[in-house]
Amino acid sequence: MAPEPGGEARERAARRDRAVRAAVEQGLLGPDAAVVGLLDVTGIRESAAALRAAFGAVVAPGTPVLHAFAVKACPLVPVVRLLHTTGLGAEAASPGELALARAAGVPAARTVLDSPAKTPAELREALALGVAVNADNPQELRRLDALVRAAPSRSPLGLRVNPQIGAGAIGATSTATRTSKFGVALRDEGARAWVVEAYARRPWLSRLHTHTGSQGVPLPLLAQGVAEVYALAEEINAAVGRRQVDTIDIGGGLPVNLASEETAPTFAEYARLLAARIPGLFDGRYGLVTEFGRSLLARHGAVVARVEYTKDAGGRRIAVTHAGVQVAVRTVYAPGVWPLRIAAYDAGGRPKAGPKTVQDIAGPACFSGDLLAEGRALPPLEQGDYAVALDTGAYGFAHHYAYNSLARPGIYGYAPDGYGGTAFATVRRAQTVAEVVADSGGAHASALTTLRAPESR
Ligand SMILES: *Cc1c(COP(=O)(O)O)cnc(C)c1O
Repeated sequence: MAPEPGGEARERAARRDRAVRAAVEQGLLGPDAAVVGLLDVTGIRESAAALRAAFGAVVAPGTPVLHAFAVKACPLVPVVRLLHTTGLGAEAASPGELALARAAGVPAARTVLDSPAKTPAELREALALGVAVNADNPQELRRLDALVRAAPSRSPLGLRVNPQIGAGAIGATSTATRTSKFGVALRDEGARAWVVEAYARRPWLSRLHTHTGSQGVPLPLLAQGVAEVYALAEEINAAVGRRQVDTIDIGGGLPVNLASEETAPTFAEYARLLAARIPGLFDGRYGLVTEFGRSLLARHGAVVARVEYTKDAGGRRIAVTHAGVQVAVRTVYAPGVWPLRIAAYDAGGRPKAGPKTVQDIAGPACFSGDLLAEGRALPPLEQGDYAVALDTGAYGFAHHYAYNSLARPGIYGYAPDGYGGTAFATVRRAQTVAEVVADSGGAHASALTTLRAPESR
């Protein structure tokens, strides 16, 4: 039976409530572990299944489809492995992300490399492995020319284009603006003809790639970006007189609703919109690659932070917690763009109810802007309670920012234990203070004082 509307969101919230309580009871959280990241394994599996079902419902039978998870969104090996076991691949955009996808066991044939600044060595490695590569620009294409001439490769190769269809609501995550740094700017003078010619000269260029942006880009604009690359693929294939472009990589970018627990838009809505708008895309003539990140993971992560102190200043109530800029860098530096939902739990990990008070949820870092939320109405947080920052599973706590030498928190995945409780698995243990020192040049303590002998000697 299909779940009632909102049922999935309610169950997700209920799982989270049980997990926060269990994390306190099992000692993952407490005075000595004052901040942790939690990942909802059930929810991650559900999102991966929803993604596959959404496109499975619209593509012609037999269409090759690769859903390559954008590793950037949650660069944790166990997460990439979990998604791999649900049938997803990986999209990497740096040597680190590629290594991480390999460590997770994602085969080269299910991996895509996309960075805008690949070195010759990275390109050589990708082609040696057989990883798909999308070239970003004409100079990179020339590097591929040399590599393809030097040695045969199994890597499917493509070109990223920027359809230049404009920005969404957030400049920093809009990639299809007129002056975006990504891909070949398709509407610049002569660019389109150059792209067609580039394919005509390179029979091995078989893919076309775009990624129109991320959070803040509305569905119609995302679909327009895909429509533009589809039209270009048709034009290239007509010009060369064969189906040279055999796969279209539509990128990721499905936005996440940060205002409530409801999943909106859904993968199914996006897939149906693409099918309606660009019927030829899914008629079986083109293989499909997608690169979703945020929409697979954001919902399923939460930062849980202990309230160390509460205070009042100038009539404002403030809860000083252990989660701030180090785990929510985007929110802290651009709170208007990346607002976080905050939930209040008591010292036992139970949701707090009752009348609300306007309060600031502050972090531990030493600058006054270090706030997870400002002026938020919540049940009053007390010393020893927990503030939980929701929707932080993508571009959140996995993207630690080392301000104030604050340690990376432990990250734990949770799932029902089969006996009515919650089981946890360590995804990444907390960084120790000794590791902070080591990562801060600890092994080179006298490097600067011995660099040159003092002249007075
Ligand atoms: C960041 C990125 C993605 C993932 O974007 P989301 O908004 O997380 O879905 C996909 N492809 C490319 C090329 C990217 O840079």
